Amino acid sequence: MIIHADMDAFYASVEIRERPELCGQPVAVGGSAEDRGVIAAASYAARKFGVRSAMPTRAALKRCPDLVLLPVHMSLYAGVSRQIHAIFARYTPLIEPLSLDEAFLDVGASKRLFGSAAVIARRIKQEVREELELVVSMGVAPNKFLAKIASDLDKPDGFVEVAADAVQAFLDPLPVSRLWGVGRVTGAALQKQGIHTIAELRRQPQTALRRWFGEHGQQLWHLAHGIDERPVVTEHEAKSISHETTFARDVTDPDTLRAVLLDLTEQVAWRLRRHGKCGRTVQLKLRFDDFRTVTRTHSLRDATDATQIIWHTVSRLLDRELAQDIPPLRLLGMGVSGFDDGADSRRQSDLFAGAAADEAVDRVADDINARFGGKVLQRARSYHKSR
Ligand SMILES: [Mg+2]
Repeated sequence: MIIHADMDAFYASVEIRERPELCGQPVAVGGSAEDRGVIAAASYAARKFGVRSAMPTRAALKRCPDLVLLPVHMSLYAGVSRQIHAIFARYTPLIEPLSLDEAFLDVGASKRLFGSAAVIARRIKQEVREELELVVSMGVAPNKFLAKIASDLDKPDGFVEVAADAVQAFLDPLPVSRLWGVGRVTGAALQKQGIHTIAELRRQPQTALRRWFGEHGQQLWHLAHGIDERPVVTEHEAKSISHETTFARDVTDPDTLRAVLLDLTEQVAWRLRRHGKCGRTVQLKLRFDDFRTVTRTHSLRDATDATQIIWHTVSRLLDRELAQDIPPLRLLGMGVSGFDDGADSRRQSDLFAGAAADEAVDRVADDINARFGGKVLQRARSYHKSR
């Protein structure tokens, strides 16, 4: 069984924990409106006003004039992320992080020691609450795809278990938009065929879905049947470290895209440093509203784990795309691969050991200073303008 653990409103929750007087208030973390910043995370009180991540801060303040806006404090969140992972690691070594606050855990082999996957998920949830004063939503299911849907269904403070014999009953009533890759365009195409729920999609023959959507149709058919065979891949084994965001609404605004890309880049760079990995190849991934996906890569002469260098590289790749007239984006992702074996040898034996990670905190603090000095973002903008 797989657990998907996803912290609730992570950056905002950590900030509120540090300042209890903000509890219950609409709080968001993100860039300032003057700097054309975007919201990186919003508390549930702020979400009631319609404030969402990846929304321009200016728009968020319009919806919620009393919004308490706090700057991004990445080194703090990365430190808490390390503590969360240490709790996960009590139960299984098979952890696949998706970001600083989200991970898949394969607990198949942990059962004899700790009990069922649901028991383990409950314990982790309780330990995160007691030790870190934070809330994590849990999905427990036979595979990654189902666990990810499950963790999201009952947020915040969610706990949803999908038993192996209840997969179809769980999926059937859900809207097709719950499936990976069903955005506005695919959703509208399905609706035209009278398909709204996963049950209705499941009843379609595989050939029809292939005819409508090609390769993607095949994938939809599998997902509608609850089939997903991808294993949990730990970061030690991973050939790349990447992170991506699917937008609630398709995005065209270049400032929003750059701000989201910077957030993704900081998270990926953090994870590289945490694992003592340096990579040579920087990748940008774009998925458009018509589901077309393109990747752009750039290879550096020397492998790196430095936020600034990775940001400089990936933001140039994005600027090159933006200079063309591209369709609205449904998904934005980035990653680093081509790991340097030499650099790998200084990998920590214990991921969560103190000294090296603290050193990384210092290095990120430098990156953050540069960010608030505006240098990081400005460099990207001036590059764009000079083109
Ligand atoms: Mg989360």
